[in-house]
Amino acid sequence: MIKMNENASVAVIGAGIGGLAIAIRLACQNQKVEIFEKNAFPGGKLSSIEKEGFRFDAGPSLFTLPTLIDELFELAGKNPREYFNYQRLPEICKYFWEDGTHLSTLSSVEDTARAIAKELGEDEGTILKFLLGLNKKYNIISDLFLGSSLHEMSTWMSKKALKGYLNIPQLGLFSKMHQYHTSLFKNPKTVQLFDRYATYNGSNPYQTPATLSIIPHLEYNIGAYFPSGGMIAITNALYQLALDLGVVFHFNTGVERILINESTAVGICTAKGDFHFDNVVSNSDIRPTYLQLLADVEAPKRLLNQEKSSSGIIFYWGMNKIFDELGVHNIFFSDNYQSEFEAIFNQKNLFNDPTVYIHISSKLEKNDAPENSENWFVLINAPANEGQNWEELVHLTKERVLDKVSRILGYSIREFLIAEDILDPIKIEHRTSSSGGALYGNASNNQFAAFLRHPNYRPAIKNLYWVGGSVHPGGGIPLCLSSAKIAADLYQKNAYFRKK
Ligand SMILES: Cc1cc2nc3c(=O)[nH]c(=O)nc-3n(C[C@H](O)[C@H](O)[C@H](O)COP(=O)(O)OP(=O)(O)OC[C@H]3O[C@@H](n4cnc5c(N)ncnc54)[C@H](O)[C@@H]3O)c2cc1C
Repeated sequence: MIKMNENASVAVIGAGIGGLAIAIRLACQNQKVEIFEKNAFPGGKLSSIEKEGFRFDAGPSLFTLPTLIDELFELAGKNPREYFNYQRLPEICKYFWEDGTHLSTLSSVEDTARAIAKELGEDEGTILKFLLGLNKKYNIISDLFLGSSLHEMSTWMSKKALKGYLNIPQLGLFSKMHQYHTSLFKNPKTVQLFDRYATYNGSNPYQTPATLSIIPHLEYNIGAYFPSGGMIAITNALYQLALDLGVVFHFNTGVERILINESTAVGICTAKGDFHFDNVVSNSDIRPTYLQLLADVEAPKRLLNQEKSSSGIIFYWGMNKIFDELGVHNIFFSDNYQSEFEAIFNQKNLFNDPTVYIHISSKLEKNDAPENSENWFVLINAPANEGQNWEELVHLTKERVLDKVSRILGYSIREFLIAEDILDPIKIEHRTSSSGGALYGNASNNQFAAFLRHPNYRPAIKNLYWVGGSVHPGGGIPLCLSSAKIAADLYQKNAYFRKK
């Protein structure tokens, strides 16, 4: 391991999942880390809200690759189980269509293939081959993409890269996800089910490269997980670990500027004054980081102006009934998926028959809802904010969702709704500074946008590092955690060369 300059000081801007992870990694390298967070709480999008006796995870609800969290505790020499626990879900998701078709995907690949064959008339062997085949593709891509900076020449010259080049034809870089799924499956519902994974990084399956068809690998071959205590347990555990490692938190402290001297980050400016640091890490979205915190630095305009990933309208509904037909994760599909994505990405609008995702953590965490009640987290994909009339769109969407779910379940759900809170793209932007309220930074609607995001370090601004959903390798909890690993590796490498 490279020996670091002990006790160099680092300011991390933002206590999102990426900010917490890099703080832990650098504290493990004996760096003195302080986090400046504009909110009164850690976690950013991964936070929690309470309303009239119901608790809701505010943002992420699907937990994959839990070992990436465990790794942070192991790095610190701690037992992750003393901070945080989780279980693998036996049922991944329940899917519902308007014509009465429904289907559960399950933790066993064989059981899922059997269910898809039975309910959608697909060939069981084809599904099995597709799902198991994701393993190989995932290994090639994750070696190259998740663990390394694509902006370093050494990455492109590595053995892993060579393996990637040899397999390019299989990776689907130059075809579209929807096209690829259509070539594999005969029932449009199967295509829709697998197209849905494009939304896991806020993209459009009709435009995103077929390479992203590997996303279901995470759920089917590695597993969909649920943390004890709900998703907020991830934030709480990482926050506690950071505190235990001596990381200092400054809440309610927005950073107004990154101080630059001779193309080098030398500290930060907050309302309380200027503070010198040897290094700075931004966990804030790249757009406000450049436009507000680095106003005197030339910004990479093409990256900042790229199409944003989808945002969402989220209804947090307290329901005073137990819905036995629903599980922890549920999808009520639109009858016209292509038009839905057309509306979101081309018309920057919401479709009149939206796909509805409902997450119910109280199925497993009884304390998340009063007795005989459930906490529904209802997410509808929406365009990033470009000045749409959100009040009107939220109102319209609420009626459409209540109608759609009632129609498919076969009875009205309206009378069970007893508590409500709402999040929309403007509120997401306000709470986390994510440009347009996009959930995953830029959209991955072409090869360049998917794989060439903002780097985790730019030699043009020395001692400034970048982590989180808007930079390489991308949004979503696993990728934000990977961004922190790559940035910490670059930090270590730079520290070594500075010493020489
Ligand atoms: C509704 C919703 C559903 C989602 N579902 C999933 C899911 O199921 N699975 C999944 O993996 N991912 C999901 N995501 C995406 C996931 O939440 C994000 O990719 C991830 O949490 C982003 O983490 P981050 O490190 O980029 O920081 P963020 O969570 O964006 O936090 C950034 C932090 O920086 C702070 N900050 C910004 N600017 C400043 C400043 N100038 N000074 C001080 N502080 C500042 C903000 O206040 C914030 O706390 C979802 C997101 C949302 C909103």
